Formats: sequence, C-alpha cells, structure tokens
Amino acid sequence: MPSDTAARAFVDRIRPAVRALAPALVAIRRDLHQHAELSTQEHRTQAVILDRLKALALDDVRAVADTGATALVRGGRPGPNLLWRADIDALPIVEETGLPFASTTKAMHACAHDGHVAIALGIAEALAARREALAGTVRFAFQPAEEHVGGAKRMVDAGIMDDPRVDHAYGLHIWAGNRLGEVLVTPGAIMAAATHFRIIIRGRGGHAASPHQAVDPIVVAAHAVVALQTIVSRSVDPHQTTLLTIGRIHGGERGNIIPDEVMMSGTVRTFDDTVLARVLKRAEEILRGVTSAFGADYRFDTSTLPAVVNDPQQAALVAGVAAAVVGPENVGETRVMGADDVAYFLQRAPGVFFLLGAAPSGREHIAPHHSARFDFDEACMPIGVELALRIIEAVSGSSL
Ligand SMILES: [Zn+2]
Ligand SMILES: [Zn+2]
Repeated sequence: MPSDTAARAFVDRIRPAVRALAPALVAIRRDLHQHAELSTQEHRTQAVILDRLKALALDDVRAVADTGATALVRGGRPGPNLLWRADIDALPIVEETGLPFASTTKAMHACAHDGHVAIALGIAEALAARREALAGTVRFAFQPAEEHVGGAKRMVDAGIMDDPRVDHAYGLHIWAGNRLGEVLVTPGAIMAAATHFRIIIRGRGGHAASPHQAVDPIVVAAHAVVALQTIVSRSVDPHQTTLLTIGRIHGGERGNIIPDEVMMSGTVRTFDDTVLARVLKRAEEILRGVTSAFGADYRFDTSTLPAVVNDPQQAALVAGVAAAVVGPENVGETRVMGADDVAYFLQRAPGVFFLLGAAPSGREHIAPHHSARFDFDEACMPIGVELALRIIEAVSGSSL
C-alpha cells in the first residue's frame, strides 16, 4: 500500500476493484521475485502466467517464443485491437537486498520485470471481469528475454500482432529512480537505440620476455580503448546525445604469455541514425588506424536494437490519462539512455511506452536498476493497472 501522503492521493483515484487487487499483485510479484529466471529460461515464470491466464478464462491462451505467453480479451462490442506488453525475465545478479522474498536462484529481478508481470496479470484480471463493457480486443504479450537476446522480435515474428491485427501497443517500465506514481511519457524517442559491438584485436602471441618477436594485442587494445573514447568527445556534435561504453575486455591466460588476440565488447547509445552512423564510421577508422600502426588486425561486428519511439498523438493521450490518475504535477517527459526491445512492438503499431515512478520510500540512497540491491515500491502496481485500464478506456471508447 502507498507509503506516503502524496501516494495516498492516487489511491482515491484508483477504482475500488483495482485497489482490491493490490494484495494479489504483491503476492504474484514476490513469488516471481523469489523464483527469478534468466532470459530464455523463464519456464516456471511462463507456467505461473499461463495458469493465471487460463484461470481467468481468457481466449487464445498459449505459449509463444518458447518461454513467453499470450492471451486475448475479446470485448462485447466492436472496437480497436490493442496490445499490452510485459517483459518477464531476470538478470544474472546475486541478490543482496536481504528482503524476506529475496531470490532463491542465481538470477535476480533487478529491473522490476516481476512487477511488470504482476501489473499485466492485474490488467488481465480486471478486463476479464469487464469483458462485456470492452470495445475491441486487448492482447497480452508476456515477453521473454528482454535483457538478453531480444524476445520482442521473436514474439512479433511469431505473428503475435497479426491476428487480430494490433492497432496500438502499450507498455510501461517501473522506474525506481523517480518518485512513486510519477509518469514519464515522451512524444517521440523515450529510450535510446542500443548498438552492441564486439571487437577482436588479432596480434601474434609469444613469450612475455621476447615482446619484439610478437605483436602484443593487449597493448594495441589499450590504445584502441583510449582512442575509441574520443569519438563522443571529439567527433560528435556536442548538441547530440550519445555514449560509447566498453563493458568487457578479455585477453590472455597468464602473465608470462603474450596472447594472440583480445576480445572487447560494448555498447553505443543514440537517438539519431546519422549520429549512430558517424560513431560507427569513426570506430571503424580508429580500429583500422590503431591496429595497422602496431601491425595487428581487427574484426568489428555490430547489431542495433532500435530506439523506443512513442507515437506523438498516443503519447498526448496517455499524458492526459495519467494527469487524471496521478495529477498533472506528477506527469513529465524524459529521454533515457537505456534501451528496451519493446521498440519492436512500437515499430509495428503506433503506441506508447512510459515510465512509472516507484522509488522505495524512506531510502536515502536508491539502488539503480540492474544493481544487487535494487527494489521498488510495490504501491506502484495498482497505479499501473489503473493507468492501463484508463488508457484502454480512452482509446477504445469503452467504459470499464
Ligand atoms: Zn533491465
Ligand atoms: Zn527492464
């Protein structure tokens, strides 16, 4: 239940039926949290979701994309076909929260996807009880593997948006960095495009005591790392937003052996395709120049997850709905460097992905997403359900 006075004001605007769901949402979230599963391994999570969807007697309840799940709510009247997406996977992090429902597995729900599942099941339950009043359909996409491999594309490729053809897609991300109940919804890009890259620097291995007979890829990699860091500061217009991080570097086995190669991987985040093209072109030039200067060779591979782009009209509608639920003072815009593969759903159907503030109350330091001490305020979950129901009402002209 809400933990501060501001949050209590939201409660008055949440319909009693949704308020009554709150304890069930907490129970679902804590169960999933305790049994967190990694991307593509969400078997138990999938079973929990499918059981619940079947118990609600929804249509077209089935597994999709291996460990994902879907279901359809058919309204009693004709109307638009909408989709609500929730991602379901956890991260390879050993939890350090000390919470009574802390994960018992080697995975951790450190990105609140447990809360996303609970909210989506809450929306499904509320809609199931009001089917006759719904105009059109609402499809649920419980998507596996958001954090790794890209489950969204697999769901879209499996035809989840085709029958019935989805007119608008929606989803939310619980956001622990913002105060409880704050809704951040941006027309246009709200999350960055993420380009994953992998670099292999090939030298020539040898004895550590005879460096002159080898081409040391570790020294070359060190120069490459430093030079790559100048792309953002020296080659991109300072008015543009971008970053380049090398998060992994691996080379060598022992201190007295010069290895043959070094592998590095990292990410570039951008909001603009021309900036991305510029960054990748400069990266290629730097790698070519640095490796040739030392007599080494390289390989540079990239793959890009598109930016999360909201439809401006739909974003305005969601902002209006949010203002009615959480108050206009709690509705804002943002643009974050994080990425989310919900982008694939939004590429196929104009819609909105928004952030829902859920800062745990009474904490001086809020652990960021993907941290071993991450947590969020569960009071955000009924707010999320209410927001979704009101968005569905507004778009479909239903009175739920
Ligand atoms: Zn995440
Ligand atoms: Zn996430």
